[in-house]
This record gives sequence, structure tokens and C-alpha cells, in this order.
Amino acid sequence: MKKLLFLLFITTLSFAQTETITAIKAGKLFDSERGIFVDNQTIIIKNNIISEVGSNLKIPANATVIDLSKQTILPGLIDCHTHITSQPENYMEDLFRKSPIDIAVTAHIYAKRTLEAGFTTCRDVGSIEYVDIALRNAINAGKIVGPRLYVAGPYIGATGSHGDMNGFSPYVKIHQIGSVADGVDEIRKQVRTNIKYGADLIKFGATAGVLTEEESVGAPQYSQEEMNVMVEEATMWGKKVAAHAHGTEGIKRAVKAGVASIEHGSFIDDEGIQLMKQKGTYLVADIYNDDYILAEYAKLGFPQKIIEKERLVGRTQRENFQKAAKAGVKIAYGTDSGVYPHGDNAKQFFYMVKYGLTPAQAIQAATINAADLIGAKDKIGSISAGKFADIIAVDGNPEQDITVIEKKLTFIMKDGVVYKK
Ligand SMILES: [Zn+2]
Repeated sequence: MKKLLFLLFITTLSFAQTETITAIKAGKLFDSERGIFVDNQTIIIKNNIISEVGSNLKIPANATVIDLSKQTILPGLIDCHTHITSQPENYMEDLFRKSPIDIAVTAHIYAKRTLEAGFTTCRDVGSIEYVDIALRNAINAGKIVGPRLYVAGPYIGATGSHGDMNGFSPYVKIHQIGSVADGVDEIRKQVRTNIKYGADLIKFGATAGVLTEEESVGAPQYSQEEMNVMVEEATMWGKKVAAHAHGTEGIKRAVKAGVASIEHGSFIDDEGIQLMKQKGTYLVADIYNDDYILAEYAKLGFPQKIIEKERLVGRTQRENFQKAAKAGVKIAYGTDSGVYPHGDNAKQFFYMVKYGLTPAQAIQAATINAADLIGAKDKIGSISAGKFADIIAVDGNPEQDITVIEKKLTFIMKDGVVYKK
């Protein structure tokens, strides 16, 4: 008993010794819950958790003080649509000369770049094999540097869909774990398999896509029954579902099935917008990367067919984003990073403001709304007591010029650890 008490004493002592207190003096601070900027705030952080936020707070004598009183402080940013494990280098080489092992050994580079862009959390929606799960685990264990990740594992799609290999001879066989599932039984099995290996959410293809060689951009690729089962099965395991959906009909099927978010949403119509409002479905529209694809993808060897599809989609997607936002559909920030180079995730803020959001709404999309979509609103998405100390600072005023987030990032803290100062 004495020995136990002694051990308890030692443990308590070592806890007391390792508790670090940090105080951040904030100039302007973005209150993401209320969508307003407030002045003269102090943030007190104990280890990795925010313990107090307010004006005229007493700073503890043993605190390390970080003076950001001339900066604008924002919650750590959240990108809800990344493919953080890779990015395109050459169409044919990426498809035929790289294996999942090549992807696995380089993924950490992109994770670091993403964090260094101020994104302290990402929802990663589709990775080859289970590289995303290994990456998430290595980041959580502190072995490598990157954002906290919520990951989907392999994208689930029908035979011939956006999630399948398209445009090649039937004699070209590529070994691929999971991802192709047809009919309700295979869908249930694939959902369960992804969850078994550690997926935090399920991502599936409700309609055709742009960056693969199937003919259509927007045709539905699962029946209503199949989508219903996708959501029903994931829900049973306590997981949310994200649907890749460009096409008008597929968007509606996915919303009716009960997905948490529509990714892309390019050809949404008024009925789809009303359905999303009724169901509280988030729209995650990647409205920056069109510029990058049209400027760079021919050089990367992508077939003209794919580039033409992008030309068809990009502009319409931006206009429909504006319509949906104006109608009051819930918006979360998601960029499809990995389609363009990782680390440029903040470039989309400019387009979200150009296409109808106020700067405050755009930042809410990338903080509190994103946290809500992920299901982690109790841990991230605002600078408030009890949440992880995920905090960034920028020079200048994003209310007047939203691009300061991409151009003038001066400070990054994730989980209480400073990565940029
Ligand atoms: Zn994507």
C-alpha cells in the first residue's frame, strides 16, 4: 500500500511538472460560433486544451506568453475534402508505374504541407488501399507531422464508375483492394470492411466524375436502393457518409438516402437545393481547382476528354454553388486537394467569397461548419474552452481581404504545439 501511494505521489508530481500553460494575447479573434470578430482577447491553454478565452483574463505567472496582439486569430482551418496521400504528376505514370507503396512513402510530405498551410484538420475522402488510415495513425502517434485526420479509406463505387479503372482494355488488370461494390450485399460488405480497417467515415460515388475516363460527368452510378443501403449500413456502425455527386439525379438520390454531405454538387437544381435544406445536408463544393486543372492537366498528360469534362463542369459548379449558398444550404469547406498541389488549400477562400459568401461565412465553412459535418464540434472548429488548441494567426484583416489567409499566415498551433511562429 505504501509503495502504491509512493507511486501515486511520483505520478502526480510528474504530471504537475509536465503541465504547460500558454497564454496567447490575441488582437482580433474570430468567434466562429457567432460568426463575428472580437477585439482584445486572451486565450489560456493548458497542455493541448484551451481552458479559457476572454478579455481581461489574468495570465498565470508560470505561463509562456505568445503575443499576437497585432494579428488576426482564427481557429485552425478544416478542409473537408482532401486526398492527402497523393497528387498527380503524370497520368500514365501515376496509373501504371506507381504502386500503393510509392504513395505510402511520400504521403507524409503532403500532410506536412497541409498543416503548414494552416489546416489543422482534414476529412480525407478516398485514398488508395488504406494509406490514409496508416497516415492518420502515424500523425496521431506523433511520429510524423500533419493535420488531425478523419479518413474514409477506399472510395466505394460501382463497376465502371468513377471509383473503377476506366478507359483501358479488358485485359489490363490492376490489383486493387476493395472500392468496387455492386448490389446491396457487396455494398454492405465493403462498408463493413472499410470500418473494420479503421475508416472514420464512408465515401461513395453517387454519380460519374471528371478525372476518370467514363463518358458521362453526371449520370447516377448507384440505384436508390443501393444508396439507401450504403447509408443504412454506415449509420448502423455509427459512421457518416459523404457522396461524390456531380449529377442532378444522383445528388437527389444521395440526399434522400441520408448522406451527411454532397461533394461537388455541380449540376444541382432547385429541387435538389430544397431537399438539401430540408434534410440539413452539407454542400462541399471544390470551386477553386477548376483553374488549376484547366491550366496544368494537359501538361501532366491527362486525356483531352477529361479536360473537356472539366471545362463543362467548372463554371456551372461555381454558379450552382452561389445559388445553393444563397438559398441557405449548409456549406462546409472542401477543396479536393490532391487534384491540385497540397498546401494551396486556402486558395479556395477567394472563390467562396467571389461566389456569394461573406468572409465570415467562408471562415465558418472552414471551421465550425466543417467540425459539425465531421461530427467533432465538441473538439474542434472554434477557439473555446475545452477544445483542442488548434489556432492560427494571419497578418491583416480577412474581413477586408480574405486572401490574407493564403498569403499572410504567421502562426500555426495544432494540439497545443507551435508549428510556425
Ligand atoms: Zn475528391
